[in-house]
This record gives sequence, C-alpha cells and structure tokens, in this order.
Amino acid sequence: MTVHLFDVAPLRPLGGGEVPTLALVVVDGDRVLAVDAGFPASVFEDPTLIGFERFFLRLPHRPEASLLHRLESIGLRREDLTDIVLTHLHSEHAAGIVDFPDAAVHVAATELETSRSGSLRARISYRSRFFAHGPRWRPHAGTGEWLGVGGCSWITDDVVLVPLPGHTVGHCGVAVRHGDAWLLHTGDAGYGDPRTGAPAAFPLAQYERISMAAPDLQATTRETLRLLAARDDVHTVSSHRYPPRLPLAVAEATERSPR
Ligand SMILES: [Zn+2]
Repeated sequence: MTVHLFDVAPLRPLGGGEVPTLALVVVDGDRVLAVDAGFPASVFEDPTLIGFERFFLRLPHRPEASLLHRLESIGLRREDLTDIVLTHLHSEHAAGIVDFPDAAVHVAATELETSRSGSLRARISYRSRFFAHGPRWRPHAGTGEWLGVGGCSWITDDVVLVPLPGHTVGHCGVAVRHGDAWLLHTGDAGYGDPRTGAPAAFPLAQYERISMAAPDLQATTRETLRLLAARDDVHTVSSHRYPPRLPLAVAEATERSPR
C-alpha cells in the first residue's frame, strides 16, 4: 500500500501567505481511495464557480493542483479512483468530486443531511452545484468503534471515518491503517498542536474560530484529538498545514506534492 500526500486546493487567505489543502491518495492494489477531493480543475479556471468564497480563499490559477491531475502525475486515471472519503462538505475539500462521477463518495450521514437542510448556515457553508451531478453517495451512520472512539464507520478494514465534530456538525477525521500504525487525517478539526493544545498561527487560528459551526462539540473533539495524538501508533495530518515532518511509520510511502 502506498500513501501519497497532495495539496489539492492551494489557498491564499488575506495576509496569510499560501495555505495548502491536503488530501491523501491511498493506492492498495486495485483499490484507489482519496481522503478529500480539493477543487476540480474547473474551479481553478473559473473561481466564480465557488461564489463569494473566492474573495476569501483567493485560489491561484493552478489547475494542475486538482486531484485528477495529481492522480495523473502518479500514473493513475480518473476511473482508477474507486472511493473518495470526505472529512466534510466545504467546497475546498469536496468540490473535486465532480471530476469522479463513478467513485463512491463516503461521508458522515449527518454532514450530508446538514448540507441539504436548506438552513441559512447550510446555504452559506455549502456549494450545492458540486453535488448536483448525482454523486454515488455512501452516507455513514457511525455505529462502530476505533481505538476507543465511538460513532465511527469502518469503510474498509483499513479506513475508518472518525467523528470529530465542531467545525461542522458532521465533520470527521479519516484514519488509514499503515502497517502497525494509523495515519489520521484530521480535516478541519483543529489546526493547532493536538498534543499540547497550542493554537495555530495566523490566519488559521482565526479561521478555526470564525468557521466553527458547533462550538459546543469542539471541546470533546479537542480531547479526542489529544488522546489520539498521544498514542505512538497514531500520526496526524490536518488539512491546511503541512506536517512539520512526515510520520516515520509512513514516510517511506508518502510523497509531498510538488509546490
Ligand atoms: Zn471546512
């Protein structure tokens, strides 16, 4: 099994330099699975597709950053991607699913329901145009357990959807087994140091606070992250920050994307 790490939605928030949006591509025999999907090439060509968000996210013109192009860069085709597992449905994580209409799209059932609720927050937070092509949704109810965390959904024997709500109500991390260890993509669950609780630098700490949909759930999520990150067999990577160093257990199988 090989795990690749790609920036699939480079962002340039005001005053914040360039911020990556990291996706994992897990190649395991015939099964190729992505954790998050970034922006499709069409959005880099025409940022008006993401509406008002373009004024905050300020993406560079870089269609080659799209997941489809990243897959091609490692010799894979569109149809090779069998599964996409989404941490949540915000556009820079999920819009890329439009490029993969045949892939199964796994997401927490709560997240999918919330995105369809029609509430004011949902209309502000989610861009439904990227979900209008009839994705092969696989909503997961979360009835399992993983490393003592309840409400999890086992997608395969090696991939688990782990609830880390707060940033959105249905937000999840995605754990990928690698040998004796787990690589946990924590999505937007928090950008600070999960072990010490030290907050992230500007502008991520500010974004973390402003974008919180369910602050009441975030305290539990922070504690869950702290407990998981303290384990020797769990290595974390979050969406918008390159890990200071890639976890030893997965380093030989993980590629940093070209910048
Ligand atoms: Zn988000």
